[in-house]
Amino acid sequence: MEAEKTCPICSREIAQPASLHHLLPICKGGAGTPTVLLHQVCHSKIHSLFSEKELARNFNTIEKILANEDMQQFVRFIRKQPPTYYDKNKRAKRKRKR
Ligand SMILES: [Zn+2]
Ligand SMILES: [Zn+2]
Repeated sequence: MEAEKTCPICSREIAQPASLHHLLPICKGGAGTPTVLLHQVCHSKIHSLFSEKELARNFNTIEKILANEDMQQFVRFIRKQPPTYYDKNKRAKRKRKR
């Protein structure tokens, strides 16, 4: 067990409900492939920006995801929020797909 976990997207400590992201979406053959533990908000952002197809093809590493401009904008924003920041408004209309 690790004492502390940080989110590879925003580099903040994970102190809220976290969520596992498959770098290769399960529906694209990603079952059993590496996962990364992310903040729920960071995870939701990834899936709001990229489709499963784009993730599988172009954004199958954290580095590639972070290189995206929209993602960088989000990271700049989220780093200013407290570690417990949780976007309740977005959660309500969050899409179900992962
Ligand atoms: Zn995911
Ligand atoms: Zn994060």
